[in-house]
Amino acid sequence: MSGFLLTEEQKEIRDLAREIAQEQIKPLAAELDEKEIFPRETIDLLGETGILGCAYPEELGGSGMDFLSFILCMEEIAKVCGSTASIVSTHAGVSMYCVELFGTKEQKEHYMPLMAQGHLMGFALTEANAGSDSSGMITKAVEDGDNYIINGAKMFISSAPANEFNIVIAVTGTNAKGRPEFTAFIINKDTPGFSVGKHIHKMGIRGSLTAELIFEDCVVPKTQILGKVGEGMKVALASLNAGRISMGAQALGIAQGAIDETIKYVNERQQFGKRIAQFQNTQFTLADLQTRVDAGRLLLWRAATLKDQGEPFATEAAMAKLYCSDLAMETTVKCVQFFGGYGYTKEYPIERMMRDAKITQIYEGTNEIQKMVIGRSIGVK
Ligand SMILES: Cc1cc2nc3c(=O)[nH]c(=O)nc-3n(C[C@H](O)[C@H](O)[C@H](O)COP(=O)(O)OP(=O)(O)OC[C@H]3O[C@@H](n4cnc5c(N)ncnc54)[C@H](O)[C@@H]3O)c2cc1C
Repeated sequence: MSGFLLTEEQKEIRDLAREIAQEQIKPLAAELDEKEIFPRETIDLLGETGILGCAYPEELGGSGMDFLSFILCMEEIAKVCGSTASIVSTHAGVSMYCVELFGTKEQKEHYMPLMAQGHLMGFALTEANAGSDSSGMITKAVEDGDNYIINGAKMFISSAPANEFNIVIAVTGTNAKGRPEFTAFIINKDTPGFSVGKHIHKMGIRGSLTAELIFEDCVVPKTQILGKVGEGMKVALASLNAGRISMGAQALGIAQGAIDETIKYVNERQQFGKRIAQFQNTQFTLADLQTRVDAGRLLLWRAATLKDQGEPFATEAAMAKLYCSDLAMETTVKCVQFFGGYGYTKEYPIERMMRDAKITQIYEGTNEIQKMVIGRSIGVK
C-alpha cells in the first residue's frame, strides 16, 4: 500500500527501517531462529539509528516522532524477522510507553534515554497460573520501611536474559471490597533477590529469548514504584493497549513478508510448463491476501493515529491486533502451500514465518480476550 496517509517524515523513518531490515536484519534471521541467538547487535543498531526511541520525546533521548512512525518501523522489521520485531515491540511499544506515561520525572530522565539506546526493559505480568486472568497473580510485594520485599515468579517473559530492567506487577494488598490490589515496580537486573529462570524453548520467535523471572526476598526501593501504589492494573492495561498496536504491526509485517517471499517464488517456479504464478488460484489467493493485509494496515494506522491524537484507542487496538494476527496465521499457512514441499523445509524462510505468526494470536492477550474487549465495547455484555 502506498503511504498516502503518511507525512514525509514518517515515510523517511519507514524507509530507513526498511533499509536496515532488508540489509542487516534479514541476513541474520534464519540463524537467530535456528540457534536461538539474541540479536544484540541489531538492537544496538536500532538504538543508534533512532528507531527504538522514535515515538518518544527528544528531551528523553527519543526522536520526537509519533507512534504511527514506530508502527511503520515495526512492520518493516517484522517482514524479515519475527524475533527481532517481538523484542522491539515489547521494549519500545510496551515498556517505554509505560515509563513515559507513568514514570516520575527522575524515572523518565534515568530510564528513557537508556532505553532509546537499546538498554532493554521487559514487562512482567503473566504468571504460571495467571495468564488471561492476570488478576489471579500471586507474586507479592510487602511494604518494609523504604522498600518493598517481593516474592514470587513471572512466566514467559520476553527477552528475559537480555533485559537490564523489568516492569513487574505484584499484589500489594486488598481493597475495601476484599479484591487484590496491584502495584507496578521497575526492577533492575542486579537487584538482590532477583534472578532469571531457565530458558523456555519455543516454536517460533526463537531469537527472542523467553524465560521465567524469580523473586526471592527481592528488595526494591519505593522510588522504583511505577505509577501509584494500588494502580498496577492501570499500568498493565495501558501496556496491553499500546502493545496490541505494536504486536498487530508485528503480525502484519509477517503477513506482508510472507506474501513478498511467495510472489518471488511463484514467479519463478514452473510446473506443467507454466510458472506457478500463472495458475489462477495463485493470482486470486495472493490478491485476496494482499487486499486483506492492506485492510489490516488501515486498522493499525487508525489505532496508532487515535493514540497519537490522545483519543481512546483500546477497542481499535484490540481490533487491529485480532485482525492482523489471524491474518498473519492464515497468510503464512497459505503461502507455505504455494512453496509446496520446499515450503516445508528450511531452504526458504516461509516455514519460519508460519511458526513466528502463531504467537501473535496468543500474546498481548489471546485473540479470545481481544474478542471479549471488542464485544464489551460494542455493548455485548
Ligand atoms: C513467547 C511468549 C512471550 C510472552 N511474553 C510475555 C511478556 O513479555 N510478559 C508477560 O507478562 N507475558 C508474556 N507472555 C504471556 C502471554 O501474554 C500469555 O501466554 C497469554 O496472555 C495467555 O495466557 P496463558 O498462556 O496463561 O493462557 P490461558 O489464559 O490459560 O488461556 C488458554 C486458552 O483459554 C482461552 N481463554 C482464557 N480465558 C478465556 C475466556 N474468558 N473466554 C474464552 N477463552 C478464554 C485463551 O484464549 C486460550 O486459548 C508471553 C507468552 C509467550 C508464549
